[in-house]
Amino acid sequence: MADDIVKIIKYDHHGTDVYVREDLKGTHADMCLCYLCEDFKPGDDDNCMVANEVYKNCVEFGLVTPVYECPVFKLSKALEDRFEVVE
Ligand code: SF4
Repeated sequence: MADDIVKIIKYDHHGTDVYVREDLKGTHADMCLCYLCEDFKPGDDDNCMVANEVYKNCVEFGLVTPVYECPVFKLSKALEDRFEVVE
C-alpha cells in the first residue's frame, strides 16, 4: 500500500461505530468556528440556537459536524488577543 494513502478508520463514538479519516480524528474543535464564538455556550440554556440544532443533528445521525462558515459569528471577547475579524 502506498505511503500517501489516508486511512479511514472505524471507532466507537459514544456507543456508535463511526468512520472517520484517521488524520482528521479529534480535530473537530480546532476547525469549528463555534469554539471561537461569543454565543457558543454548550450545555447552557442560552447556547446559540444554530449550534444547538447542529448538535441535535449530530446526535440523531451519529455525525461530527464542524461549522466552517456562519453568517452570525461573533468573536469571543476572550479570544480577541489571538484572532481578528476582517470585515
Ligand atoms: S453563531 Fe455561528 S459560529 Fe457562533 S455558535 Fe452559533 S453557529 Fe457557531
